[in-house]
Amino acid sequence: MSKSVVIIGGGIIGLCSALYARRNGMEVTVVDREPKGHHGCSFGNAGMVVPSHFIPLAAPGMVGMGIKMLFNPEGPFAIKPSLNKRLLRWGWLFMRAANEAHVKASGIPLRDLHLLSRRLYEELADESGDAFGLHQRGLLMLCKSQKTLNEEAHVAGQANDLGLHAKVVDAKALAELDPTITMDVAGAIHFEDDCHLTPGSLLDWLRHSLEAEGVVFRDETEIVDFAMDGPWIRSVETRTEKTRADQFVLATGAWSGELAERLRLKIPMQAGKGYSVTLNNPPQLPGICSILTEARVAITPMGSSLRIGGTMELTGNDLSINRKRLGGIFKSVPQYFPEFKTSDFEGQEVWSGLRPCSPDGLPYLGRSARVQNLVVATGHSMMGVSLAPATGKLVSQLLLDQETTLNLDAFNPNRFDLND
Ligand SMILES: Cc1cc2nc3c(=O)[nH]c(=O)nc-3n(C[C@H](O)[C@H](O)[C@H](O)COP(=O)(O)OP(=O)(O)OC[C@H]3O[C@@H](n4cnc5c(N)ncnc54)[C@H](O)[C@@H]3O)c2cc1C
Repeated sequence: MSKSVVIIGGGIIGLCSALYARRNGMEVTVVDREPKGHHGCSFGNAGMVVPSHFIPLAAPGMVGMGIKMLFNPEGPFAIKPSLNKRLLRWGWLFMRAANEAHVKASGIPLRDLHLLSRRLYEELADESGDAFGLHQRGLLMLCKSQKTLNEEAHVAGQANDLGLHAKVVDAKALAELDPTITMDVAGAIHFEDDCHLTPGSLLDWLRHSLEAEGVVFRDETEIVDFAMDGPWIRSVETRTEKTRADQFVLATGAWSGELAERLRLKIPMQAGKGYSVTLNNPPQLPGICSILTEARVAITPMGSSLRIGGTMELTGNDLSINRKRLGGIFKSVPQYFPEFKTSDFEGQEVWSGLRPCSPDGLPYLGRSARVQNLVVATGHSMMGVSLAPATGKLVSQLLLDQETTLNLDAFNPNRFDLND
């Protein structure tokens, strides 16, 4: 008899976990409190697959930089000052992790998780007949100033040391690399292993495939508690009903910390809010996705549209839109792409999403030490799309107690539960 699993959360992490669990022979149910077609943070993001992101958010210099940015109301970073216990503890754990040793220890595990995902995306793109527009053209870190370019060149060197392909490109070579867009920059780092895709199409294709393969979806179903049998979850509970299974996966994104508390588990999490707008008729359409390095804005071509995304606001689980910060994103684009005007963004629909941010910038991926039949798969912060297929594959192996393709020690979901 095949084992059954309930996956709580139908974002990109939940759907990829469902895919590989089903293909590993399990009976799979995905439960999400939102209606069909809503996917938490996974819908309107920048769709980048980023082996270049091998440095976690918790890194030296980030605390000082964050504090400086706080004073700019149009800047990319915000924290709502609060005496909230969860936020204070998260902040303390972040500061504790933001050191060189942590960055060094995280590089290889993150690289391997990204590269496994990239390989799995290639397989899924082939299988789907290119249903979600995977483009393997790399990522450009565009730098306005020579100073930033020099700093980023250092990161490119670290990437090369990890076996990744990254090179410094000056303004002239950049214009040749992507002649479809006019750029006013000192140069860029071309991270050649990176790719981009269209997240909405990916989610649609996954849902369609999963339904065809017999995965059961329970939309508009909010899990509020768990019925326990000693250290085992017997069932998940909504306000009106219970669902039993052999195994459970916690993949509820930014909301995972609070739900984990119902299980008496400490999975520190803060929501990192970001915005995006998608221009259907952009003045120009680049061929390669990019990050405007100084402005911290992501730019991704998706079919004939162009998505622009940014900001990281630690302001609670709140999706409201801060127009000043949004204005900061819009103002930055013409500084790098002079054919664009801020007025190009007027009247555009704005999407907001909550990144699930762990305090050390690493995902939580593994079995709970205290709840025997729970696998945790969350906390992917700004890399959830990039890491999703690898996460899903590893979740499916964990569920069936198989040997995992990668060593998961760095992502241990119990790391703040037992040691603190
Ligand atoms: C502006 C922006 C740009 C980004 N760009 C990129 C990028 O280029 N590349 C990249 O890799 N990542 C990017 N990200 C990050 C990425 O979007 C996230 O890491 C990813 O979507 C997280 O996926 P998830 O499945 O963990 O969470 P979510 O997508 O948020 O899914 C969690 C789901 O759980 C459900 N849920 C929550 N609580 C419950 C409950 N109690 N019961 C039932 N269901 C529940 C929610 O309804 C939701 O559907 C970006 C994010 C933002 C905001």
